Amino acid sequence: MAYDLVVIGSGPGGYVCAVKAAQLGLKVAVVEKRATYGGTCLNIGCIPSKALLHASEMFAHAAHGMDALGVEVSAPKLNLEKMMAHKDATVKSNVDGVSFLFKKNKIDGFIGTGKIVSAGKVTVTGDDGKVQELETKNIVIATGSDVAGIPGVNVEIDEKVIISSTGGIALEKVPQHLIVVGGGVIGMELGSVWSRLGAKVTVVEYLDKLLGGMDGEVSKQFQRMMVKQGMDIRTDAKVTGVEKTATGAKVTYEPVKGGEAQTLEADVVLISTGRKPYTAGLGLEEAGVKLDNRGRVEIDGHFKTNVEGIYAIGDVVKGPMLAHKAEDEGVAMAEILAGQHGHVNYDVIPSVVYTQPEVASVGKTEEELKAAGIAYKVGKFPFTANGRARAMLATDGFVKFLADKDTDRVLGGHIVGFGAGEMIHEIAVLMEFGGSSEDLGRTCHAHPTMSEAVKEAALATFFKPIHM
Ligand code: FAD
Repeated sequence: MAYDLVVIGSGPGGYVCAVKAAQLGLKVAVVEKRATYGGTCLNIGCIPSKALLHASEMFAHAAHGMDALGVEVSAPKLNLEKMMAHKDATVKSNVDGVSFLFKKNKIDGFIGTGKIVSAGKVTVTGDDGKVQELETKNIVIATGSDVAGIPGVNVEIDEKVIISSTGGIALEKVPQHLIVVGGGVIGMELGSVWSRLGAKVTVVEYLDKLLGGMDGEVSKQFQRMMVKQGMDIRTDAKVTGVEKTATGAKVTYEPVKGGEAQTLEADVVLISTGRKPYTAGLGLEEAGVKLDNRGRVEIDGHFKTNVEGIYAIGDVVKGPMLAHKAEDEGVAMAEILAGQHGHVNYDVIPSVVYTQPEVASVGKTEEELKAAGIAYKVGKFPFTANGRARAMLATDGFVKFLADKDTDRVLGGHIVGFGAGEMIHEIAVLMEFGGSSEDLGRTCHAHPTMSEAVKEAALATFFKPIHM
């Protein structure tokens, strides 16, 4: 059987590309080496972590969040096994959904390791060692990413005591003390899960702030909130060693600006220092496909590698390692292969941290605008002045707009607050249409909603908010 397209990897990049290509009339196969489809995101990433974030938030809410509303409940009891079963069931329904989509769109799925023999030829090696050969006009590499270690430090991850995010979504008991090495999105989300369930959590971060690329004001507020929730945050701290001990593990770090080394002991250490592109065993060298200096598959503006007929999308190429970025690239890729004009607007890719409150961001940060020498204005509105937030006791946080000083075109939006991950999309749509803060500030918003704070922040960008 000759295919129009063979996709290697069935994560959000690969499966979305396959479905879209099949919808556009291409004959498509997907090769996946994991036993189930859906990639990192559905199996061990976005979906299981959000199931645990939601469940642990419910637990924390029952423990501390209801009394002030006049709802008196006895102290909640944790059934971790049941919580994990909820997570597993959520994963299963999502990965089954991808199998259903493959069937519905007549996509052939192959479970096994894909290897590119040459342009037009992919082999699939199953667990039993059997090799199948697929012929195809086009190949899309969507093999995603894997856990990156700590630069310069030899760490042995056993997923029990020294864990990656994969172990972090599957612990069998709540650690007494969890050390999180790396205060980025994944570390702070999983740190929140275990902190809410009763672990003492210490975060050790190399940078001088949490959530590296986020707007400075946002990460400051975020850090304050995490400390308020009981986390011990140590920034400017360079980890130099992570070792197992008789009772757990110890982490040694040095202040980045110099000073004495410190040692922390815990029963579990989570390594969340980032992810790296995954290309092992794909045969890229033999096929002559070039990687860039960070090990990512090098592509042009249309996802094309240096070899005719071989393309790449998702975490394995440049850009933010986010599921929706991979999905949008999957759609654009399929459209290009079908002779259409697929395109991704990299200036408008939202990112969300699913802590409580959430943090959401789209477009430029204030630091980026300053560095680029772009004249901008700022509009801000706090949730303390929003009626719905007061009614829900969800007044932590703010909305911040950044707009061009002369044209008022919105360049970035940042929200810290309950529901930020949903509200950010009205700013994303506004930016996609090249809108101004006045466009949003003059759009009627239902009362009382948290989204009114978005409108008020937009008003504050070009004139004055009403409620402040
Ligand atoms: P992946 O999802 O990594 O899929 C690649 C697939 O390729 C894998 O299934 C792999 O088994 C397969 N593969 C690799 N090599 C081969 C081969 N040779 N043959 C066959 N198959 C192969 N992003 C968000 O946007 N929102 C979130 O909330 C979020 N939460 C996350 C939480 C955690 C704990 C983690 C780890 C990640 C999270 N991410 C989140 C990131 C997100 O998971 C990735 O950006 C996304 O999965 C990338 O999609 P992809 O299709 O490029 O690759």
